[in-house]
Amino acid sequence: MDNCIFCKIASGEIPSNTLYEDDGYRVILDNGPATRGHALVLPKAHYADLFEIPEDVLSGAAVVAKKVAGTMKEKLSCDGLNLIQNNGAAAGQTVMHFHLHIIPRYSDDGQNILWKPGSPSAEELVEIRKTITGA
Ligand code: AMP
Ligand code: ZN
Repeated sequence: MDNCIFCKIASGEIPSNTLYEDDGYRVILDNGPATRGHALVLPKAHYADLFEIPEDVLSGAAVVAKKVAGTMKEKLSCDGLNLIQNNGAAAGQTVMHFHLHIIPRYSDDGQNILWKPGSPSAEELVEIRKTITGA
């Protein structure tokens, strides 16, 4: 994609702080990090989101994330780690090139990435299940 900043970063046309690279992926430091070490797994091929990305490219991104996450645990001594992947503006996606966030977490990092839990009734849960599964 000509005008996609993550295509340019993934290909190396735009320099980045790269943590890992192979033929299919580049992992870079996020320049607006939630925490120290926040990184993004970028497939080198352009897919907008989860709906577009082929299964093999998606699973490859997960394998790369696991590799980098292990290194982060060792080198950054993080206390936990979130893997986050946003699809669509409503879900917070701002760059329309699929990417997986790797966010090392620290007990005292002050971030609040989790959600407020709802309290659906048993009937609502059944209705939602039926809507999604059709069964
Ligand atoms: P999302 O909201 O899931 O689309 O995430 C986009 C992420 O990309 C944000 O966390 C940004 O801080 C990050 N970002 C945007 N442009 C750059 C860039 N040029 N280099 C590194 N990270 C970037
Ligand atoms: Zn792209």
